[in-house]
Amino acid sequence: MCPCGGPLVTRYDLDRLRREVTPSVFAQRPPSMFRYRELLPLTEKSEPVTLGEGFTPLLPAPRFGAHAGLRNLWIKDEGVNPTGTFKARGAALGFTRLKELGARAVVIPTAGNAGGAWATYGARAGIPTVVYMPAIAPEINKAEVRMAGGELHVVDGLISDAGRLALQAAREKGYFDASTLKEPFRVEGKKTMGLEIAEQPGWRLPAAVLYPTGGGVGLIAMWKAFRELKELGWVEGPLPKMISVQAEGCAPVVRAWQEGQPESTFWEGAATVASGLCVPKPLGDRLTLQAVRESGGVAVSVSDADIVNAMKTLGRLEGIVASPEGAAAAAATITLRQQGVLGEDDLVVVLNTGSGLKYPHLMAE
Ligand SMILES: *Cc1c(COP(=O)(O)O)cnc(C)c1O
Repeated sequence: MCPCGGPLVTRYDLDRLRREVTPSVFAQRPPSMFRYRELLPLTEKSEPVTLGEGFTPLLPAPRFGAHAGLRNLWIKDEGVNPTGTFKARGAALGFTRLKELGARAVVIPTAGNAGGAWATYGARAGIPTVVYMPAIAPEINKAEVRMAGGELHVVDGLISDAGRLALQAAREKGYFDASTLKEPFRVEGKKTMGLEIAEQPGWRLPAAVLYPTGGGVGLIAMWKAFRELKELGWVEGPLPKMISVQAEGCAPVVRAWQEGQPESTFWEGAATVASGLCVPKPLGDRLTLQAVRESGGVAVSVSDADIVNAMKTLGRLEGIVASPEGAAAAAATITLRQQGVLGEDDLVVVLNTGSGLKYPHLMAE
């Protein structure tokens, strides 16, 4: 972590990279997030800790699009990643670097999916992982940690409480603290979503990207990707509007955005079916709000009823088994189209951040 208390951010020598690399080199490499190694904190000698994550499909969703009034809606389906969510990207890059650096043990507080991913990739790397997870997290996330041999601590409270206990454990036992934005690798790993969203349609950027926001890492990361690509001159035209979507039962970023505040305040009584969005005071709130503002985006919330409805509609119209978080982002397209924030012909990308299969309790509804 930065001694100043703020997030640690990776910077690259983009001027040098522009002279040495053209984007066509990536297409010659295997379809993996590690194909972007020059834009990641890696060297040619780095050996990825991998389970086959990344390079997920960018799927056209014409029928859901028509339902929302959009002619060009695409869904980036992160549900096909190992451990069923995009958290695999941060964990894969994180453990690749931690193994290189010789880390002995890692601790992570989580709303659920990050704990599952980090325990799993910890097993892959051979590095013990300690996870602090709220009792209300989905049972499947606790089972994932146990399956991977991680040390699971079930916390009476929310992710904010888990964060305090993880910090204490890191200090007392000397674990590497992998909390959101306290290390730079999770952002860089998740940044590959943005690089793929640009590369997959032929280095063309969408008009808008909708992201279900918990800690905010994915949104901050994709915005970083788009800005780096622009600075490299590998993409043209305006950068996408970054749209932060939250659940009505826990929407601190949306509230701050509506009130014009630079940072969020703690959301009391947080509760939503989209457990990955149940983050009452996101550590990345400032950077998320900054990305939303700079990009000309918005922050909106949707109800749990709309989330569950969108899960069903995505399944029926597109054959996509979305997580409630991804369904939240999809649901938001409907109101944003009505409000004119999204244009009928805009190229719009919705992040389905995880697989609905991890939420059998919601699929059964
Ligand atoms: C963690 C998570 C999110 C939120 O991600 P942040 O980068 O923390 O905002 C969204 N969806 C799913 C499925 C998640 O696991």
